[in-house]
Amino acid sequence: MGGSFEPPLRVQRCVEPGEGKVWALIIDLRSDTVTRPTSVMRQAMAVAEVGDDVYGEDPTVRQLEQRAADLAGKEAGLFVPSGTMGNLVAAMTHLHPGDELFAEAEAHILYYEQGGCARLAGAMPHPIRGQAGRFSGADLRREVRPADLHFPRPGLVAIENTHNRSGGEVWTEAETNDVLTAAHELGLATHLDGARLFNAATALGVSAAQLASGFDSVSICLSKGLGAPVGSVLCGSRDFIGRARRNRKVVGGGMRQAGVLAAAGLAALSDGVAGLADDHRHAAQLAEGLAALPGLQVAAVRERTNMVMVDVDAPAGLWVAQLKAADVLVNAVSPHRLRLVTHLDVSGPDVEKTLTVFAKLAEEATRWS
Ligand SMILES: *Cc1c(COP(=O)(O)O)cnc(C)c1O
Repeated sequence: MGGSFEPPLRVQRCVEPGEGKVWALIIDLRSDTVTRPTSVMRQAMAVAEVGDDVYGEDPTVRQLEQRAADLAGKEAGLFVPSGTMGNLVAAMTHLHPGDELFAEAEAHILYYEQGGCARLAGAMPHPIRGQAGRFSGADLRREVRPADLHFPRPGLVAIENTHNRSGGEVWTEAETNDVLTAAHELGLATHLDGARLFNAATALGVSAAQLASGFDSVSICLSKGLGAPVGSVLCGSRDFIGRARRNRKVVGGGMRQAGVLAAAGLAALSDGVAGLADDHRHAAQLAEGLAALPGLQVAAVRERTNMVMVDVDAPAGLWVAQLKAADVLVNAVSPHRLRLVTHLDVSGPDVEKTLTVFAKLAEEATRWS
Protein backbone atom coordinates (compact mmCIF):
# COMPACT_ATOMS: atom_id res chain seq x y z
CA MET A 1 0.00 0.00 0.00
CA GLY A 2 1.02 3.58 -0.62
CA GLY A 3 1.36 6.17 2.10
CA SER A 4 -1.58 7.33 4.08
CA PHE A 5 -3.72 9.96 2.46
CA GLU A 6 -5.98 12.67 3.79
CA PRO A 7 -9.32 12.62 2.04
CA PRO A 8 -11.27 15.86 1.70
CA LEU A 9 -13.58 15.54 4.68
CA ARG A 10 -15.75 18.61 4.40
CA VAL A 11 -17.41 20.25 1.43
CA GLN A 12 -15.96 23.68 0.73
CA ARG A 13 -16.79 26.51 -1.61
CA CYS A 14 -14.11 28.65 -3.20
CA VAL A 15 -14.93 32.25 -2.27
CA GLU A 16 -11.78 33.86 -3.76
CA PRO A 17 -10.38 32.05 -6.78
CA GLY A 18 -6.90 32.53 -8.19
CA GLU A 19 -3.71 32.97 -6.14
CA GLY A 20 -4.16 32.34 -2.43
CA LYS A 21 -7.60 30.81 -2.77
CA VAL A 22 -9.99 31.35 0.10
CA TRP A 23 -12.39 28.55 0.96
CA ALA A 24 -15.58 28.63 2.95
CA LEU A 25 -16.77 25.53 4.73
CA ILE A 26 -20.26 24.45 3.81
CA ILE A 27 -22.38 23.68 6.87
CA ASP A 28 -24.62 20.85 5.74
CA LEU A 29 -27.60 20.38 8.04
CA ARG A 30 -29.85 18.72 5.46
CA SER A 31 -29.48 15.26 6.94
CA ASP A 32 -27.18 13.07 9.00
CA THR A 33 -26.64 11.03 5.83
CA VAL A 34 -24.24 13.65 4.43
CA THR A 35 -21.22 12.72 6.57
CA ARG A 36 -18.04 11.70 4.77
CA PRO A 37 -16.19 8.61 5.95
CA THR A 38 -13.35 9.50 8.32
CA SER A 39 -9.72 8.67 7.61
CA VAL A 40 -9.93 5.84 10.17
CA MET A 41 -12.94 4.44 8.36
CA ARG A 42 -11.28 4.68 4.94
CA GLN A 43 -8.21 2.96 6.31
CA ALA A 44 -10.37 0.14 7.70
CA MET A 45 -12.08 -0.18 4.30
CA ALA A 46 -8.72 -0.32 2.50
CA VAL A 47 -7.44 -3.25 4.55
CA ALA A 48 -10.74 -5.17 4.98
CA GLU A 49 -10.65 -8.91 4.43
CA VAL A 50 -13.28 -9.77 1.80
CA GLY A 51 -14.93 -12.63 -0.07
CA ASP A 52 -18.08 -13.20 -2.10
CA ASP A 53 -20.86 -12.50 0.37
CA VAL A 54 -23.57 -14.10 -1.78
CA TYR A 55 -21.61 -17.33 -1.22
CA GLY A 56 -21.42 -16.40 2.49
CA GLU A 57 -17.66 -15.97 2.19
CA ASP A 58 -17.07 -12.41 3.34
CA PRO A 59 -15.67 -12.52 6.88
CA THR A 60 -16.00 -8.75 7.43
CA VAL A 61 -19.68 -8.76 6.48
CA ARG A 62 -20.25 -11.67 8.85
CA GLN A 63 -18.47 -9.81 11.60
CA LEU A 64 -20.59 -6.70 11.03
CA GLU A 65 -23.82 -8.71 10.96
CA GLN A 66 -22.96 -10.43 14.24
CA ARG A 67 -21.79 -7.23 15.90
CA ALA A 68 -24.99 -5.37 14.93
CA ALA A 69 -27.12 -8.31 16.07
CA ASP A 70 -25.32 -8.39 19.43
CA LEU A 71 -25.86 -4.65 19.92
CA ALA A 72 -29.55 -5.03 19.01
CA GLY A 73 -29.94 -8.07 21.27
CA LYS A 74 -30.93 -10.34 18.38
CA GLU A 75 -29.54 -13.67 17.16
CA ALA A 76 -28.54 -12.71 13.64
CA GLY A 77 -28.08 -9.81 11.25
CA LEU A 78 -28.30 -9.13 7.51
CA PHE A 79 -26.26 -6.38 5.85
CA VAL A 80 -28.40 -4.45 3.36
CA PRO A 81 -27.46 -1.48 1.15
CA SER A 82 -29.99 0.92 2.70
CA GLY A 83 -32.53 1.46 5.44
CA THR A 84 -35.22 1.39 2.79
CA MET A 85 -34.19 -2.13 1.79
CA GLY A 86 -34.04 -3.13 5.47
CA ASN A 87 -37.67 -2.12 5.93
CA LEU A 88 -38.74 -3.62 2.61
CA VAL A 89 -37.07 -6.97 3.26
CA ALA A 90 -38.58 -7.01 6.77
CA ALA A 91 -42.06 -6.44 5.30
CA MET A 92 -41.50 -9.13 2.64
CA THR A 93 -40.32 -11.60 5.26
CA HIS A 94 -43.04 -10.97 7.85
CA LEU A 95 -46.00 -10.70 5.46
CA HIS A 96 -47.85 -12.51 2.74
CA PRO A 97 -49.20 -10.36 -0.09
CA GLY A 98 -52.45 -8.72 1.00
CA ASP A 99 -51.57 -8.70 4.71
CA GLU A 100 -51.90 -5.43 6.57
CA LEU A 101 -48.92 -3.40 7.75
CA PHE A 102 -49.73 -0.99 10.59
CA ALA A 103 -47.48 2.02 11.09
CA GLU A 104 -47.75 5.62 12.13
CA ALA A 105 -49.09 7.69 9.23
CA GLU A 106 -45.85 9.65 8.74
CA ALA A 107 -43.48 6.79 9.47
CA HIS A 108 -40.64 6.48 6.96
CA ILE A 109 -41.86 3.07 5.81
CA LEU A 110 -45.14 4.64 4.65
CA TYR A 111 -44.08 8.21 3.87
CA TYR A 112 -40.65 8.07 2.27
CA GLU A 113 -40.26 4.69 0.57
CA GLN A 114 -42.39 5.12 -2.55
CA GLY A 115 -44.93 2.72 -1.14
CA GLY A 116 -42.42 -0.09 -1.59
CA CYS A 117 -44.12 -2.11 1.13
CA ALA A 118 -47.25 -2.16 -1.05
CA ARG A 119 -45.59 -2.25 -4.43
CA LEU A 120 -42.90 -4.81 -3.75
CA ALA A 121 -43.95 -6.65 -0.57
CA GLY A 122 -47.66 -6.66 -1.49
CA ALA A 123 -48.58 -5.29 1.92
CA MET A 124 -51.74 -3.33 2.53
CA PRO A 125 -50.55 -0.18 4.36
CA HIS A 126 -52.70 0.76 7.33
CA PRO A 127 -51.63 4.19 8.62
CA ILE A 128 -52.30 5.04 12.27
CA ARG A 129 -52.60 8.76 13.00
CA GLY A 130 -50.16 9.31 15.88
CA GLN A 131 -48.97 12.05 18.19
CA ALA A 132 -45.36 13.08 17.64
CA GLY A 133 -44.83 9.84 15.73
CA ARG A 134 -46.08 7.69 18.59
CA PHE A 135 -49.27 5.70 19.09
CA SER A 136 -50.50 3.43 21.86
CA GLY A 137 -51.51 -0.18 22.27
CA ALA A 138 -55.11 1.04 22.52
CA ASP A 139 -54.72 2.86 19.17
CA LEU A 140 -53.49 -0.35 17.59
CA ARG A 141 -56.33 -2.40 19.09
CA ARG A 142 -58.80 0.10 17.65
CA GLU A 143 -57.34 -0.24 14.15
CA VAL A 144 -56.99 -4.03 13.94
CA ARG A 145 -60.18 -5.65 12.70
CA PRO A 146 -61.36 -9.17 13.52
CA ALA A 147 -60.94 -12.13 11.20
CA ASP A 148 -63.54 -11.75 8.48
CA LEU A 149 -63.77 -12.77 4.84
CA HIS A 150 -63.95 -9.09 3.82
CA PHE A 151 -60.84 -7.86 5.60
CA PRO A 152 -57.15 -8.24 4.87
CA ARG A 153 -55.22 -10.28 7.42
CA PRO A 154 -53.49 -8.09 10.00
CA GLY A 155 -49.83 -9.01 9.75
CA LEU A 156 -47.26 -6.56 11.06
CA VAL A 157 -46.89 -3.43 13.14
CA ALA A 158 -43.86 -1.19 12.64
CA ILE A 159 -42.59 1.46 15.06
CA GLU A 160 -40.00 4.11 14.24
CA ASN A 161 -37.54 5.13 16.96
CA THR A 162 -36.47 7.88 16.69
CA HIS A 163 -39.28 9.16 14.49
CA ASN A 164 -37.96 11.19 11.60
CA ARG A 165 -40.95 13.31 10.44
CA SER A 166 -41.74 14.44 13.96
CA GLY A 167 -38.23 15.84 14.44
CA GLY A 168 -36.47 12.86 15.98
CA GLU A 169 -39.01 12.07 18.71
CA VAL A 170 -38.14 9.18 20.98
CA TRP A 171 -40.30 6.25 22.05
CA THR A 172 -39.56 5.10 25.61
CA GLU A 173 -39.46 1.42 26.50
CA ALA A 174 -42.81 1.76 28.28
CA GLU A 175 -44.40 3.21 25.15
CA THR A 176 -43.06 0.52 22.81
CA ASN A 177 -43.95 -2.21 25.34
CA ASP A 178 -47.54 -0.99 25.38
CA VAL A 179 -47.74 -1.48 21.60
CA LEU A 180 -45.79 -4.75 21.71
CA THR A 181 -48.20 -6.19 24.28
CA ALA A 182 -51.17 -5.30 22.09
CA ALA A 183 -49.40 -6.66 18.99
CA HIS A 184 -48.64 -9.97 20.68
CA GLU A 185 -52.26 -10.33 21.86
CA LEU A 186 -53.45 -9.58 18.32
CA GLY A 187 -51.01 -12.04 16.79
CA LEU A 188 -49.10 -9.40 14.84
CA ALA A 189 -45.41 -9.57 14.01
CA THR A 190 -43.40 -6.53 15.12
CA HIS A 191 -40.71 -4.52 13.34
CA LEU A 192 -38.64 -1.65 14.70
CA ASP A 193 -37.39 0.88 12.16
CA GLY A 194 -34.34 1.81 14.20
CA ALA A 195 -32.60 3.89 11.55
CA ARG A 196 -31.70 6.14 14.49
CA LEU A 197 -32.05 3.61 17.30
CA PHE A 198 -28.71 4.64 18.81
CA ASN A 199 -29.92 8.25 18.95
CA ALA A 200 -32.92 7.07 20.94
CA ALA A 201 -30.71 4.95 23.20
CA THR A 202 -28.36 7.89 23.76
CA ALA A 203 -31.22 10.27 24.57
CA LEU A 204 -32.78 7.84 27.04
CA GLY A 205 -29.55 6.52 28.53
CA VAL A 206 -30.47 2.90 27.80
CA SER A 207 -29.01 0.31 25.44
CA ALA A 208 -30.16 -0.23 21.86
CA ALA A 209 -30.89 -3.84 22.84
CA GLN A 210 -33.30 -2.69 25.54
CA LEU A 211 -35.19 -0.55 23.04
CA ALA A 212 -35.28 -3.40 20.51
CA SER A 213 -36.29 -6.00 23.08
CA GLY A 214 -39.53 -7.81 22.22
CA PHE A 215 -39.44 -6.88 18.51
CA ASP A 216 -39.25 -9.67 15.95
CA SER A 217 -36.99 -7.54 13.77
CA VAL A 218 -35.08 -4.29 13.91
CA SER A 219 -33.26 -2.39 11.21
CA ILE A 220 -30.38 -0.05 12.05
CA CYS A 221 -28.84 2.53 9.70
CA LEU A 222 -25.07 2.74 9.67
CA SER A 223 -25.12 5.68 7.26
CA LYS A 224 -27.05 8.17 9.40
CA GLY A 225 -25.54 9.60 12.57
CA LEU A 226 -23.05 6.75 12.91
CA GLY A 227 -21.17 8.06 9.90
CA ALA A 228 -20.72 5.08 7.55
CA PRO A 229 -20.98 5.81 3.82
CA VAL A 230 -23.41 2.96 3.08
CA GLY A 231 -25.59 0.39 4.71
CA SER A 232 -28.05 -0.85 7.27
CA VAL A 233 -28.32 -4.07 9.20
CA LEU A 234 -31.61 -5.92 9.62
CA CYS A 235 -31.57 -8.04 12.79
CA GLY A 236 -33.81 -10.79 14.13
CA SER A 237 -33.92 -14.49 14.91
CA ARG A 238 -31.69 -16.86 12.96
CA ASP A 239 -34.73 -18.29 11.19
CA PHE A 240 -36.09 -14.83 10.28
CA ILE A 241 -32.74 -13.66 8.94
CA GLY A 242 -32.39 -16.85 6.89
CA ARG A 243 -35.67 -16.08 5.16
CA ALA A 244 -34.80 -12.36 4.90
CA ARG A 245 -31.55 -13.30 3.12
CA ARG A 246 -33.60 -14.90 0.32
CA ASN A 247 -35.76 -11.77 0.05
CA ARG A 248 -32.72 -9.51 -0.04
CA LYS A 249 -31.48 -11.49 -3.04
CA VAL A 250 -34.73 -11.16 -5.00
CA VAL A 251 -34.67 -7.36 -4.67
CA GLY A 252 -31.08 -7.24 -5.87
CA GLY A 253 -29.44 -6.68 -2.51
CA GLY A 254 -27.00 -9.60 -2.66
CA MET A 255 -23.58 -7.96 -2.64
CA ARG A 256 -20.25 -9.54 -3.41
CA GLN A 257 -17.00 -8.27 -1.80
CA ALA A 258 -19.09 -6.07 0.49
CA GLY A 259 -16.52 -6.36 3.27
CA VAL A 260 -15.05 -3.03 2.17
CA LEU A 261 -18.41 -1.48 3.09
CA ALA A 262 -18.92 -3.62 6.18
CA ALA A 263 -15.54 -2.46 7.48
CA ALA A 264 -16.85 1.10 7.46
CA GLY A 265 -19.98 -0.14 9.22
CA LEU A 266 -17.91 -1.80 11.95
CA ALA A 267 -15.97 1.43 12.45
CA ALA A 268 -19.30 3.30 12.62
CA LEU A 269 -20.62 0.94 15.30
CA SER A 270 -17.49 1.25 17.40
CA ASP A 271 -16.70 4.97 16.96
CA GLY A 272 -19.95 6.54 15.78
CA VAL A 273 -22.16 5.92 18.79
CA ALA A 274 -20.11 8.05 21.18
CA GLY A 275 -20.51 11.13 18.97
CA LEU A 276 -24.30 11.11 19.10
CA ALA A 277 -24.41 12.91 22.46
CA ASP A 278 -22.51 15.82 20.84
CA ASP A 279 -25.01 15.85 17.96
CA HIS A 280 -27.87 16.07 20.44
CA ARG A 281 -26.15 18.89 22.33
CA HIS A 282 -25.58 20.77 19.07
CA ALA A 283 -29.22 20.33 18.07
CA ALA A 284 -30.33 21.63 21.47
CA GLN A 285 -28.09 24.69 21.00
CA LEU A 286 -29.58 25.30 17.56
CA ALA A 287 -33.12 24.92 18.91
CA GLU A 288 -32.47 27.34 21.74
CA GLY A 289 -30.80 29.95 19.52
CA LEU A 290 -33.42 29.74 16.78
CA ALA A 291 -36.32 29.96 19.23
CA ALA A 292 -35.13 33.44 20.20
CA LEU A 293 -35.38 34.79 16.63
CA PRO A 294 -38.42 36.63 15.23
CA GLY A 295 -40.53 34.92 12.58
CA LEU A 296 -39.28 31.45 13.53
CA GLN A 297 -41.05 28.86 15.64
CA VAL A 298 -39.07 25.87 16.84
CA ALA A 299 -41.30 22.80 17.06
CA ALA A 300 -41.25 21.47 20.61
CA VAL A 301 -40.03 17.94 21.24
CA ARG A 302 -40.19 15.93 24.43
CA GLU A 303 -36.62 14.70 24.07
CA ARG A 304 -34.15 16.49 21.81
CA THR A 305 -32.13 14.15 19.61
CA ASN A 306 -30.28 15.31 16.48
CA MET A 307 -33.03 17.20 14.66
CA VAL A 308 -34.67 20.58 14.85
CA MET A 309 -37.89 21.40 13.00
CA VAL A 310 -38.42 25.11 12.48
CA ASP A 311 -41.62 26.70 11.23
CA VAL A 312 -41.03 29.87 9.25
CA ASP A 313 -43.45 32.64 8.24
CA ALA A 314 -41.85 33.10 4.81
CA PRO A 315 -41.91 30.21 2.32
CA ALA A 316 -39.48 27.48 3.39
CA GLY A 317 -38.07 27.33 -0.15
CA LEU A 318 -36.99 30.95 0.10
CA TRP A 319 -35.25 30.27 3.40
CA VAL A 320 -33.46 27.29 1.89
CA ALA A 321 -32.15 29.43 -0.99
CA GLN A 322 -31.06 32.32 1.23
CA LEU A 323 -29.33 30.01 3.68
CA LYS A 324 -27.59 28.24 0.84
CA ALA A 325 -26.21 31.56 -0.41
CA ALA A 326 -24.65 31.87 3.06
CA ASP A 327 -23.15 28.33 2.88
CA VAL A 328 -25.72 26.77 5.23
CA LEU A 329 -27.72 23.88 3.79
CA VAL A 330 -31.05 22.79 5.28
CA ASN A 331 -34.08 20.93 3.93
CA ALA A 332 -37.64 22.16 3.58
CA VAL A 333 -39.90 19.33 4.78
CA SER A 334 -43.18 21.17 4.15
CA PRO A 335 -44.13 24.57 2.69
CA HIS A 336 -43.30 26.46 5.90
CA ARG A 337 -41.10 24.01 7.78
CA LEU A 338 -37.32 23.63 7.75
CA ARG A 339 -35.43 20.64 9.11
CA LEU A 340 -31.93 20.91 10.55
CA VAL A 341 -30.03 17.74 11.39
CA THR A 342 -26.76 17.61 13.31
CA HIS A 343 -24.11 14.94 12.75
CA LEU A 344 -20.39 14.14 12.94
CA ASP A 345 -19.47 16.85 10.43
CA VAL A 346 -21.21 19.66 12.32
CA SER A 347 -18.98 21.28 14.93
CA GLY A 348 -19.61 23.73 17.78
CA PRO A 349 -18.34 26.67 15.66
CA ASP A 350 -20.64 25.53 12.82
CA VAL A 351 -23.59 25.80 15.21
CA GLU A 352 -22.57 29.33 16.14
CA LYS A 353 -22.11 30.36 12.52
CA THR A 354 -25.48 28.86 11.61
CA LEU A 355 -27.19 30.87 14.34
CA THR A 356 -25.48 34.05 13.14
CA VAL A 357 -26.66 33.44 9.57
CA PHE A 358 -30.21 32.70 10.75
CA ALA A 359 -30.26 35.86 12.89
CA LYS A 360 -29.28 38.02 9.93
CA LEU A 361 -31.83 36.38 7.62
CA ALA A 362 -34.62 36.50 10.23
CA GLU A 363 -34.33 40.26 10.15
CA GLU A 364 -34.42 40.36 6.34
CA ALA A 365 -37.20 37.78 6.12
CA THR A 366 -39.78 40.22 7.43
CA ARG A 367 -39.35 42.03 4.07
CA TRP A 368 -39.61 38.88 1.90
CA SER A 369 -43.02 38.58 0.35
C1 LIG B 1 -33.24 7.23 6.47
C2 LIG B 1 -34.29 6.39 7.04
C3 LIG B 1 -34.61 5.16 6.47
C4 LIG B 1 -34.05 4.69 5.15
O1 LIG B 1 -32.71 4.71 5.05
P1 LIG B 1 -31.98 4.86 3.60
O2 LIG B 1 -30.66 4.28 3.89
O3 LIG B 1 -31.97 6.31 3.32
O4 LIG B 1 -32.77 4.08 2.62
C5 LIG B 1 -35.55 4.38 7.09
N1 LIG B 1 -36.16 4.80 8.21
C6 LIG B 1 -35.90 5.98 8.77
C7 LIG B 1 -36.60 6.36 10.03
C8 LIG B 1 -34.95 6.82 8.20
O5 LIG B 1 -34.72 8.00 8.75
